[in-house]
Amino acid sequence: MFSDELRKIDWDKTTEKIYSSTDADVRRALSKDKCDVDDFMALISPAAEPYLETMARLSRKYTLKRFGKTMSMFIPLYLTNSCTNSCVYCGFHVSNKMKRTILKPEEIENEYKAIKKLAPFENLLIVTGENPVAAGVDYLAKALDMAKPYFSNLKIEVMPLKAEEYAELVRHGLNGVICFQETYHEKNYKVYHPKGMKSNFEWRLNGFDRMGQAGVHSIGMGVLIGLEEWRTDVTMMAYHLRYLQKTYWKTKYSVNFPRMRPAENGGFQPNVIMSDKQLAQLTFAMRIFDHDVDISYSTRENASFRDHMATLGVTTMSAESKTDPGGYYTYPQSLEQFHVSDERTAAEVEKALKKLGVEPVWKDWDQSFDHKSA
Ligand code: SF4
Repeated sequence: MFSDELRKIDWDKTTEKIYSSTDADVRRALSKDKCDVDDFMALISPAAEPYLETMARLSRKYTLKRFGKTMSMFIPLYLTNSCTNSCVYCGFHVSNKMKRTILKPEEIENEYKAIKKLAPFENLLIVTGENPVAAGVDYLAKALDMAKPYFSNLKIEVMPLKAEEYAELVRHGLNGVICFQETYHEKNYKVYHPKGMKSNFEWRLNGFDRMGQAGVHSIGMGVLIGLEEWRTDVTMMAYHLRYLQKTYWKTKYSVNFPRMRPAENGGFQPNVIMSDKQLAQLTFAMRIFDHDVDISYSTRENASFRDHMATLGVTTMSAESKTDPGGYYTYPQSLEQFHVSDERTAAEVEKALKKLGVEPVWKDWDQSFDHKSA
């Protein structure tokens, strides 16, 4: 389990190492075909800032080679905003007095139909709060069953599950799981997640192993930028990614670097701010570190930044996202989990990508190939 590995890595020493990276360390990393985590640390360090253009060129080269000029498109659907956790940065936390929604089967079906009218989305991400009693595995299995006639690639972003529960959902058509560790800083993790199942750091951390054990085809990871020193957090994620790739080598991996946005929770303010330039540096560094990993940008990022990064390393994007349950059809005005920044329609995003010479791909071709070859 990755918790055993993480215990061997010291947070403070890692931070120190990143900040003491030298020009020579950066040059060495840039000259390598296969980078290790030490190289990644140099590439995200302040010492690499003068090399941003070189990094962008390399990132573009590796992305083109592996993914071509394509962008895999997906759309999230929030099924619930009912949650038993108390993440201090989220508007859905348990003590926030608000109307809670758990979509009923007929409402879910209406959402699927409404999404299909927006664009030919085939990649659906089902999202829920953590309420295992009211919206647990059976509820998710039903939602997956109902989604199959509409979408060919089904992912979930829900509470961490047991390995056998992931396996059960795979039998219902689940292809991928996205889970954000939020932060790898174990001690401070408790401060941000004081109550509920999510307060159990290890259970969440080892959830990725359980996904691998269950044979989930695609695993998405991320840290929430705004909680802890971001350079250290993403380094821990790089260690985690390498560990998972070695242990569950059949699985496909994606990464995401969500920057905290204002939530409707009385205003938790981010502890650290990551600039656009730093997010670009991190994206390039991740691509140079790993040529195959999917790098995903959501509509948290604004339109012009997403367009800019679309040719430089990003390979997956959401579009026209609603972050409230039933937001596409049933309850168009309910409370959002966070406010999206890129508010363009899917058609507008498609047009912008095409103008950049990038072809939006609505269907996950890897997935259809895997099924044919299975
Ligand atoms: S971040 Fe997720 S788990 Fe935490 S309160 Fe919000 S919906 Fe619940």
